[in-house]
Amino acid sequence: MKTRDEWLALSQTLEFRNQAYINGEFRAAASGRVFPTQNPATETVLTEIAECDVSDVDLAVEAARTVFRAGTWAELDPGQRKRIMLKWADLMDAHRDEFALLDTLEMGKPISEMLSIDVPDAIDCIRWTAECIDKVYGEIAPTAAGTLAMIHHEPAGVVGAITPWNYPLMMVCWKIAPALAAGNSVVLKPSEKAMLSALRLAELASEAGLPDGVLNVVPGFGHTAGKALALHMDVNVLAFTGSTRVAGMLMGYAGESNMKRVWLEAGGKSPNIVFADADIEKAAAGAAAAIFSNQGEVCIACSRLYVENSIKDEFMAALLKASERYRAGDPLDPATTMGPVVDQTQLQTVERYIGSAIEEGGQVVLGGQPEYQPGKGFFVKPTIIDNTHNGMKVVQEEIFGPVLAVSGFDTEEEALALANDSRYGLGAALWTRDISRAHRVSRKIESGMVWVNTWGEGDSTVPFGGVKGSGNGRDKSLHALEKYVDIKNVFIRL
Ligand code: NAD
Repeated sequence: MKTRDEWLALSQTLEFRNQAYINGEFRAAASGRVFPTQNPATETVLTEIAECDVSDVDLAVEAARTVFRAGTWAELDPGQRKRIMLKWADLMDAHRDEFALLDTLEMGKPISEMLSIDVPDAIDCIRWTAECIDKVYGEIAPTAAGTLAMIHHEPAGVVGAITPWNYPLMMVCWKIAPALAAGNSVVLKPSEKAMLSALRLAELASEAGLPDGVLNVVPGFGHTAGKALALHMDVNVLAFTGSTRVAGMLMGYAGESNMKRVWLEAGGKSPNIVFADADIEKAAAGAAAAIFSNQGEVCIACSRLYVENSIKDEFMAALLKASERYRAGDPLDPATTMGPVVDQTQLQTVERYIGSAIEEGGQVVLGGQPEYQPGKGFFVKPTIIDNTHNGMKVVQEEIFGPVLAVSGFDTEEEALALANDSRYGLGAALWTRDISRAHRVSRKIESGMVWVNTWGEGDSTVPFGGVKGSGNGRDKSLHALEKYVDIKNVFIRL
């Protein structure tokens, strides 16, 4: 493992790709405009990036449509498509350190998390999805004798992907890998807060043999580039990860334009339930990881903790101890467990929610409001607020920072009612040694994902996504491929 100084030295040798990637080449935005992207740990500008708007999006969609119609990728032999994607994954593998650095520098995630989670997961996503290409079959329906009904899964056409900044590389791969594997062309609009890894990824895809125009990247702002993509009349499918607020807007844009299919992976306010029979030490370590990993900038962060009252004091002591391992520090230092939050707005959001929790009667038992020092990075403290209740903003609204709201419960029914009292339904964790209770509660929790005696674990083979205000789509697994195909049936009278 490299030292902090070695990472710093390596970061100074990086050449940032800072232009749009359209039809296989880097180019300036049509308007010539650029905007800065900064390092949240130092508040210095890393580079200025092409600020794409509607003209660039039009150009990218046109390139994507042209190559799709030509069939250069969509109709290429599945085995050949697979080989290109596998080569792409190998190239990513060869540039692991570079990818780790790009996201760490741009959004502040600890380099150790990039190396242990984001980069390997992103590579595995491309590899696993590539392997599916020549293993997914069409269907023949059991129709009457004298007829043949074939059900084809055809690529949908041009996929628009809009992604967030909290796992920049990983979220991009979760979208574009299945979209490309299914034979589509893609126009990607990464978050304006973290675009560097997406641009490099597109360049490596070309190096691996992906034909020009199949993957285009248009950096820019949501209300311009993102909106243009979402309203575009020639985009067939829109795949989004981001906030619930913007997710709702995209559904509106689809209705206003061409009724494109919209897949949404949105926000969360996941509950974590600790029953009295849980392994307290493991549950405490899990509860701390579930809110402080990636500075709490995690869609599945368990930001609501419900502890059975009979063990609450003992559990809180264990939780405070487990939380000691999370301290904000230089994300380039491999020992750092929490980086800065992504920008000043995010820091102020954290500050505001802690303030509102105190006003509403919460008791800060760890951390508290950030002590921001201008120019020294957007660092916040791991914060735990006890004595909260479901009527409080800090319990109902997504903060997207390292702030945990804690309250107690007495019965399983009460725990379930508290957990389900939310507009969100992304993930949920529960800790118990009682296998029947684990099954019972998992079934009744309103969420797309449940973790029992663990938190956040996943695999390329397992779908990821939510219900209620957390969205309607699933990334990863074979279910992700389904989002990007149209079903066509051909009925033949023999
Ligand atoms: P965001 O909604 O602000 O932005 C997400 C993307 O949407 C960005 O690329 C942004 O430019 C774009 N956008 C913004 N306004 C737009 C508009 N009017 N039209 C089109 N595009 C627009 O979210 P964020 O701050 O980047 O990310 C944090 C959010 O993402 C959190 O709510 C988090 O829970 C969620 N998230 C969800 C998952 C999941 O799998 N469910 C995973 C990661 C993050």
